[in-house]
Amino acid sequence: MTIKYDFLIVGAGLYGAIFAHEATKAGKTCLIIDKRNHIGGNIYTEKIEDIQVHKYGAHIFHTNNQEVWEYVNQFAEFNRYTNSPVANYRGEIYNLPFNMNTFNKMWGVVTPDEARKKIEEQRSANYVEHPQNLEEQAINLVGMDIYEKLIRGYTEKQWGRPCHELPAFIIRRLPVRFTYDNNYFNADYQGIPIGGYTAMIDKMIEGIDVKLNTDYLVEKSKWDRIANKVVYTGPIDAYFDYMFGVLEYRSVRFETEILNTPNFQGNAVVNYTDRETPYTRVIEHKHFEFGKQPKTVVSREYSVEWKLGDEPYYPVNDRKNSELYQKYKAMTETQSNVIFGGRLAEYKYYDMDNVVEFALQKAKEVLRNM
Ligand code: FAD
Repeated sequence: MTIKYDFLIVGAGLYGAIFAHEATKAGKTCLIIDKRNHIGGNIYTEKIEDIQVHKYGAHIFHTNNQEVWEYVNQFAEFNRYTNSPVANYRGEIYNLPFNMNTFNKMWGVVTPDEARKKIEEQRSANYVEHPQNLEEQAINLVGMDIYEKLIRGYTEKQWGRPCHELPAFIIRRLPVRFTYDNNYFNADYQGIPIGGYTAMIDKMIEGIDVKLNTDYLVEKSKWDRIANKVVYTGPIDAYFDYMFGVLEYRSVRFETEILNTPNFQGNAVVNYTDRETPYTRVIEHKHFEFGKQPKTVVSREYSVEWKLGDEPYYPVNDRKNSELYQKYKAMTETQSNVIFGGRLAEYKYYDMDNVVEFALQKAKEVLRNM
């Protein structure tokens, strides 16, 4: 006999887990399936050398939304980690985001007035009335020194193209801070779940049926028969069998290594902003949790071209892809029993707090009407 569920949830990531939790709390039955061999989606963490390793890139929870913060705190206790990345430019270390510490190191200025004056001087020296590319735009915003040392190489590695060939719109603003404050997100609430994100997701989906290593799209009609409604959090173009074409992404490759030292770089996140170093960042995972283990685990991040079949990370929000997404979005109207949600189904970069907020909203809306 086939079990019939109220919801089939495709994707055991944050969106799917929250939806499943809320539906179960409301008395509905759920089955979660995921094509990966683990739960958690991209926020998955795995213990290596007693250190929680962020397998799909560093994840720092930050939000200004109190409701979202209280919601996630039901499932995990968060530590006091505050993201304060540093930039390494050919061995010179600068604090990020651009703030008084950065300006002091760059130019020796001490007061906010001195820093403002220096930036103004730098901007006006090379000002271009109508910036035609990212390089001109960045120099207009912060001047040559910051552009050369902290923006140029990093951005070129991220996009795989020289800055003067990249469109100006990629950088609309470059926040500069005239305080000695290295808190990158400046959010009301910030931290990392003690014990890792996987444990947090595990708690969310406690008691719910989960089937891993299961690709929904391989036997879609079989899975559709198992539930009254489907919550789909996979790529939207894949759902519609790429009928209008493939949505593009930028991808990231991680090289993870265990090192026989208790402290490799003294900080969780170090950005390499020169052009020559092939990777963009080095993450030392133990510093997210103030680890005292005898060894350390580091991940070097390489920004790479994406092709179908690779792990999709960052949607490319240019005109071509946005128009393509709109076509798929219109198609979702034809699928009355399917709820599309999360970063892949909505083809949008969402921080985790957005995902929590939207998954909760959607669950409320759907459950109210059942
Ligand atoms: P996902 O986590 O991708 O979950 C979707 C799941 O669906 C996946 O497990 C996938 O395997 C599964 N799936 C897809 N297709 C199928 C199928 N056909 N059948 C079965 N299963 C399927 N946010 C922050 O707030 N702070 C950060 O510091 C931060 N850092 C980030 C760093 C990087 C490099 C990236 C790319 C993102 C970062 N984010 C961060 C964003 C965060 O990762 C997302 O908000 C979150 O993971 C989205 O959850 P989701 O459930 O929508 O998607």
